[in-house]
Amino acid sequence: MKKKYDVIVVGAGPAGSMAARSAAANGAEVLLLEKDREVGIPVRCAEGVGEIGLKAVVDEIKPRWICQKIYGVQLISPDEQMVLLEGEQMGYVLNRKVFDYDLAQMAADAGAVVQTKTFVNGLLFTDGYVSGVRLNSLGQQREISARIVIGADGIEARVGRWAGLRKHFAMHDVETCAQVTAAHIDLDPRYCYFYFGKEKAPGGYIWAFSKGEGVFNIGLGIGGDFSGKISAMGYLTRFLEEKFPEAAVLTTVVGGVPCAPPIKKMAGNGVMIVGDAANHANPVSGGGIIRGMLAGKIAGQVAAEAIKNGDVSDNFLNTYSKIWFEGEGKTHSFFYKIKKGIYNLSDEDLNRTARLMNSKPMKERTLINLFKSALIHQPSLILDVMKAFAS
Ligand SMILES: Cc1cc2nc3c(=O)[nH]c(=O)nc-3n(C[C@H](O)[C@H](O)[C@H](O)COP(=O)(O)OP(=O)(O)OC[C@H]3O[C@@H](n4cnc5c(N)ncnc54)[C@H](O)[C@@H]3O)c2cc1C
Repeated sequence: MKKKYDVIVVGAGPAGSMAARSAAANGAEVLLLEKDREVGIPVRCAEGVGEIGLKAVVDEIKPRWICQKIYGVQLISPDEQMVLLEGEQMGYVLNRKVFDYDLAQMAADAGAVVQTKTFVNGLLFTDGYVSGVRLNSLGQQREISARIVIGADGIEARVGRWAGLRKHFAMHDVETCAQVTAAHIDLDPRYCYFYFGKEKAPGGYIWAFSKGEGVFNIGLGIGGDFSGKISAMGYLTRFLEEKFPEAAVLTTVVGGVPCAPPIKKMAGNGVMIVGDAANHANPVSGGGIIRGMLAGKIAGQVAAEAIKNGDVSDNFLNTYSKIWFEGEGKTHSFFYKIKKGIYNLSDEDLNRTARLMNSKPMKERTLINLFKSALIHQPSLILDVMKAFAS
């Protein structure tokens, strides 16, 4: 590591690696820092992505990233009705250990310096601008200067808070998650399974995504407002005991996902935030891999332009916020509203939705019709559903 870079990216998740790659590919001198020993580990993720989204952010989908192709989703209501939504090649369950690792390598191939086991513990400020980071690398405390710091530090989101761009997450805007990777699961691997119900996962859902050969990521998220006497892990353990008593648990993780409204200003003088650190995950599904990568790509491009123009002001860097809002902002806001409507559904509402969906011909069992059926008693939200899917 040198003493000075054009751009320092904090966090080598998908958003950070993408930001580092795009800044470096556009001519900036970039340092990408990761606190963990290895990029991609531990995996706190169910690893599901849509095919269209993935194709939009990478030039080529490498076979080694894919554990399982997904051809449809099975939605299970509280009274155990199954609703199948099927489509052509809907998505993939990734191997994020390999995927995240490769993204960091792609950043390095574009010219970024990558350094793991390096914890950023503060920002440097000069004349009202962020001007670098304080870090502890392999036990050594150091300061490194930069014209721009990009916070891609996930749900911990320290960089954004230090820079005054964001506050702590509100409880109701975070899903508390627990997940196991378990063997001996007797489900069809071609589908992703989602289980709903207040008793199972209040304010959230349970998922089961195949990793191949009878191994599944099975996890759940519960809304922050519902975290009470029973923890996310408590709900998950109960579900596994009831549904999959034969499960052999290979790994266990806990984590949080922001399901929060967008942040208007995602940049300040000499600083930008991307990915979970900037609330980019989809507020309904909690999916944040692709959305973080998209934001990282834009932020990296704008950062490199700012360096070329010699202008790292709040004004210039917020070109990134403008581009993001033009592409993603409206949909994100609509999904946030829809999430609130879905949280209020009773188990009976969910059972009724399943009955309604199963009474439709297969070709009408689509996601948009599902939301429309679920929110039938909240007509103002149906309009938001239409807008979200139209944009
Ligand atoms: C249980 C669970 C299941 C999920 N399932 C899915 C799913 O199926 N599909 C999907 O799209 N999304 C899913 N998500 C969400 C998805 O994992 C995140 O949205 C995505 O990882 C966000 O990418 P990111 O790069 O913004 O942050 P992260 O992937 O969290 O990366 C942030 C990185 O920053 C590093 N870091 C943090 N602080 C510092 C620091 N101070 N110094 C240096 N490094 C630091 C961290 O170690 C980490 O590597 C899930 C999340 C959870 C918790």
